[in-house]
Amino acid sequence: MNIVTLKPSKEKSLLRRHPWVYANAIDRVDGKPAPGATVIVRAADGRFLARAAYSPHSQIRARVWSFDENEPIDHAFFKRRVQRALAHRQAMVHNTGAVRLIFGEADGLPGLIVDWYTEDVAQNARGQLVCQFMAAGVEAWKEAIVNALTQVTGCPNVYERSDVSIRQKEGLEQITGVLAGDEPPETLIASENGVRYHVDVRNGHKTGFYVDQRDNRALVQTYADGRDVLNCFCYTGGFSLAAMKGGAKRVVSIDSSGEALNTAQKNVQANGFDAERATWLDADAFKTLRRLHEEGERFDLVVLDPPKFAASKEHVDRASRAYKDINLTGFKLLRPGGLLFTYSCSGAIDPELFQKIVAGAAADAKVDARILKRLGAGVDHPLLTAFPEGEYLKGLLLQIA
Ligand code: SAH
Repeated sequence: MNIVTLKPSKEKSLLRRHPWVYANAIDRVDGKPAPGATVIVRAADGRFLARAAYSPHSQIRARVWSFDENEPIDHAFFKRRVQRALAHRQAMVHNTGAVRLIFGEADGLPGLIVDWYTEDVAQNARGQLVCQFMAAGVEAWKEAIVNALTQVTGCPNVYERSDVSIRQKEGLEQITGVLAGDEPPETLIASENGVRYHVDVRNGHKTGFYVDQRDNRALVQTYADGRDVLNCFCYTGGFSLAAMKGGAKRVVSIDSSGEALNTAQKNVQANGFDAERATWLDADAFKTLRRLHEEGERFDLVVLDPPKFAASKEHVDRASRAYKDINLTGFKLLRPGGLLFTYSCSGAIDPELFQKIVAGAAADAKVDARILKRLGAGVDHPLLTAFPEGEYLKGLLLQIA
């Protein structure tokens, strides 16, 4: 039996159901748990706290599977977790063929992300599951998890996109490939809010599509009618297509990935939109925003959805300057009454700091900006109250005077 015993008073966060055990909270480890092995976590006085997965190489030394003393960690456990996650999505997520089925800690499966693309009617009726295994525990139980996923969803196709640098912290190599069923098609089609998107699960970013921005794309769709739209960091055109669907007069989109822009243009075709309404700029966003401003371009609606500028706490200062830079120019590019949709997906930048950065940008741009709405990921990205670390995507919808 592998037992992790905590130092005195280090049980408090687990009693509040926070799912991580840090290395410095541990007094001793009995047994020789292999990476990903199940350990029992006990308080200094010997009380049972949790069953957890052991990560010998990470500062997050164990991740909790269950706080229930009577719940063994076995194939049935993983099946129950997937069933619970699926029931939640079926009840709560609508109008989409791209769903986050498993969102790590919030679904009781720490270190696991699974997105489900379910609507590629032509090529693959039951769709495609795409997984990222980011901790030793889920890595060790990969087979059980894949079985649970295919059985519970009825989707036979599972592809792995564990090409994420965070695996290094767990002593794991990056890996991609088919875990079950067929090789994924070159691109599959996922519909979201009535818009068709091509998704390349093998070579696209993350699992192929930014599922987390669904509600925000819908919001842009709502407000795009008749407007000139600028979508910065557009990837495969998520917000751009939503704006076109919503009746935007003109959409200018910027991304530094030519491949993503090719897919974006295929998406315009797939939806039968008028290609003349869309301009795609393969360029650096920082420079291009400034150039557009200098050239006197102005827009009624601007979207800023950059990649993660702060990978960790050490990068917060530099990232803050980068966020400020794009938001400053974003504000300056707006016509009076214009809307700014601005996001940060850096977990290290909390919503309060993000709002401060944006406020600073508005001040420097000399505009009166009002926050109309605070924004975040969709309901398929739940946030455990005990685990605020799970929040990463935040955004603001602002209007200038
Ligand atoms: N809004 C998108 C997701 C954006 S992901 C959606 O809804 O699908 C961030 C994008 O920023 C990526 O496509 C990446 O290629 C692009 N990117 C990163 N650095 C960039 C830069 N300096 N200039 C322009 N684009 C950049």
